[in-house]
Amino acid sequence: MQKAPKGLRLHIGIFGRRNVGKSSVLNAITGQDAAIVSDIPGTTTDPVEKPMEFLPLGPVLFVDTAGLDDIGTLGELRKRKSVKVFDRTELALLVTEANIWGEYEEMLLTKTKERRIPTLVILNKIDLNGSGAARTLLDKKNIPYVCMSATKRIGVPEVKQAIIQIVPDDWYKQCGILDGMVSAGDTVILVVPIDKEAPKGRIILPQVQVLRDILDKQANALVINERGIKQAIKNLKIRPRVLITDSQVFRQVSEETPDYIPMTSFSIVFARYKGDLSTLTAGAKRINALKETDRVLICEACTHHPIGDDIGRDKIPRWLRDKIGDGLKFDIVAGRDFPDDLSPYSLVIHCGACVFNRREMLTRICHCAEQNVPITNYGLVIAYVHGILDRVLAPFQHNASLQWYR
Ligand code: SF4
Repeated sequence: MQKAPKGLRLHIGIFGRRNVGKSSVLNAITGQDAAIVSDIPGTTTDPVEKPMEFLPLGPVLFVDTAGLDDIGTLGELRKRKSVKVFDRTELALLVTEANIWGEYEEMLLTKTKERRIPTLVILNKIDLNGSGAARTLLDKKNIPYVCMSATKRIGVPEVKQAIIQIVPDDWYKQCGILDGMVSAGDTVILVVPIDKEAPKGRIILPQVQVLRDILDKQANALVINERGIKQAIKNLKIRPRVLITDSQVFRQVSEETPDYIPMTSFSIVFARYKGDLSTLTAGAKRINALKETDRVLICEACTHHPIGDDIGRDKIPRWLRDKIGDGLKFDIVAGRDFPDDLSPYSLVIHCGACVFNRREMLTRICHCAEQNVPITNYGLVIAYVHGILDRVLAPFQHNASLQWYR
């Protein structure tokens, strides 16, 4: 069965000290043995992810973390990975026991509060510790909580109901990728190069998601490769609403697309959908200020296997070195790796982040802003170096931001 991509799922992080039964809570909610449980503190190492269809919320992703009170050298590493989970958490479950509430739980609450993450406290092992200080305290502070025994499967429906109740209303009105750009009946041309980087037998996730959004909008898509642009436009009897291309072929597509057809790229529509188009555009304009001695960080949200002349590893560095000088240095990080210290960098260049949820991408943008390091995106950089930035931003003139769930 094809599942919804991770980036479209509501991310529910499970936090709490070691041995309060976080993994049992995950298993009880999902009705499966998704996470290994034992009485030994620290059984959960890397965050454990479990996707689930959670009606009426739709697709969600539970992320079970190791306790932030983990110890030892390995414990430190586990802690760091757990802390990173806050960056993408949209709803937090704070697991403890009725007789356990202290500085640690307060620290977790502060972390979720700072990030404005709705939080539900779960008082687990209620069969063993029915009463305790935590309940009184939570009542007093008006913090939502539910009692359960995950191992005995007591209180599971109540926990599910409480999760549904604290989900932000915005979650239900998420925007589509092309909102404000494409309406019912419009025709959109999608340029999808089939080169050696294209995966065998399929098209890549950003292209699939844009295509699905066009269908959701009752609009029409004409999918072509870069060799068929002129003929496709000639054959069309109606004027297309917009042409969206892979940014790597921007130059050719721009030359072959008449000015009357608005044009942009997949990664630029994702700059708006997953991030913040204004900030990322401002980042692209900082390219002119780069010096040959500077260092640039390239970030890819997935860990695809690069095959020759890769966009992030080869093409963007080459185009930027042509413009700035051969001395310009690049570091590449992939997946969830993202340095805490950005001080070595003069610019961060991010991919479209189609596999991330929006919160994770916005967290990275905030992280850059805090350290005063500009951040931009692949498509915007390519448009900038080819001198077509204004053209590819024109389709967003009146819709630069998607005002939704942050
Ligand atoms: S590189 Fe980025 S935009 Fe491209 S498929 Fe991977 S996560 Fe999605």
